[in-house]
Amino acid sequence: MTYDLQLSHVGKVYDNGTPAVIDFNLDVEKGEFIAFLGPSGCGKSTTLRMVAGFESISSGDILIKGQRINDLLPEQRPTSMIFQNYALFPHMTVRGNVNFGLDVKGVPAAERDRKVDGMLEKLGLLDVADQRPERLSGGQKQRIALARSLVVEPDILLLDEPLGALDANLRKSIQNELKLLQRNLGITFVFVTHAQSEALALSDRIVVMNQGRIEQISAPYDLYTKPSTLFTAQFIGRNTIFKGTVKHAEGGVVTLNTDHGALSGHAAKPLSVGSNASIVIPAESIGILPANGEEPQNADGTSGFPGEVGSLQISGHIVEVTINLPTGENIVVAGHEDKFGRRFKPGDRVLMVFRSDGATVIGG
Ligand code: ADP
Repeated sequence: MTYDLQLSHVGKVYDNGTPAVIDFNLDVEKGEFIAFLGPSGCGKSTTLRMVAGFESISSGDILIKGQRINDLLPEQRPTSMIFQNYALFPHMTVRGNVNFGLDVKGVPAAERDRKVDGMLEKLGLLDVADQRPERLSGGQKQRIALARSLVVEPDILLLDEPLGALDANLRKSIQNELKLLQRNLGITFVFVTHAQSEALALSDRIVVMNQGRIEQISAPYDLYTKPSTLFTAQFIGRNTIFKGTVKHAEGGVVTLNTDHGALSGHAAKPLSVGSNASIVIPAESIGILPANGEEPQNADGTSGFPGEVGSLQISGHIVEVTINLPTGENIVVAGHEDKFGRRFKPGDRVLMVFRSDGATVIGG
């Protein structure tokens, strides 16, 4: 099959010797929404700019629809890029902004007008076509930026933190609009963000990056429920992570000896008895029971560890319970009010329980 976008062993070393991207491999199907997610400086923008042609490629190949594009100029590539704040031209009307790329390409006037009108209509901008962008809403500005990028009919749209400068509420509604548009247009989107909520809400797959390397590529739900590295487990969601050594491993279920007792989870990779490993338990997978002296030691695929209720914070239907552990650490367990009820108060001795299929064991 021909992928829309392929990065094969792509690397980038800047002139000052900084290795910004190391052995990046990714195949993207047509119509996929991909997010590059990771902390500031991990190499997201550099990778996106190498795809766009704004940055040279130090090693490896980038292919679009099977064609190697390493040496093409940005304007020769079938890509368009949307920058933070959209970078709209304030002195031009909406129509002028959308027309710009076609003008630069020297597209004949009649074809240009037809394409611009078609795109303005598709994005619901015909009514404001003769206005200047600064008076328009955040959502409309985003649609102008999209129209301007899409009118040149790119195979791939590249977005560099386009929602970065917006406040939280606006961001949320624009996110939804962006997702709907992408679905309707069926164009491949590659999106850079350092905000996990945005990546989780928008993407088909997320590429988690750390210090120039890919940590994990997964669908949002899998990333959340099946982290494959400790970095991902710490970066995504709200996980409790305990270190230990492997006590028992069978059929993908691994039991660790930890400071909190013997705890079991699933492991994607085989782990040998005695080796160091960590168990990752999502906050949503943990239930709380009153402690009655009996701890379920991996009975029926359920593990448990003891603690004491520190504080409860209720927001709407969700209760967040801070639990103080015997080791002096504390963790936060979140769940619907009907799961925890108002059964617990600070100082109560409790048992945290979770099913082994809801927890992940990672070597190291
Ligand atoms: P991100 O987008 O994840 O924040 P970047 O791709 O911007 O990360 O940067 C990755 C690394 O490359 C960082 O260490 C950054 O300091 C470095 N870097 C980025 N641009 C340049 C440049 N033009 N020259 C030298 N180093 C750079």
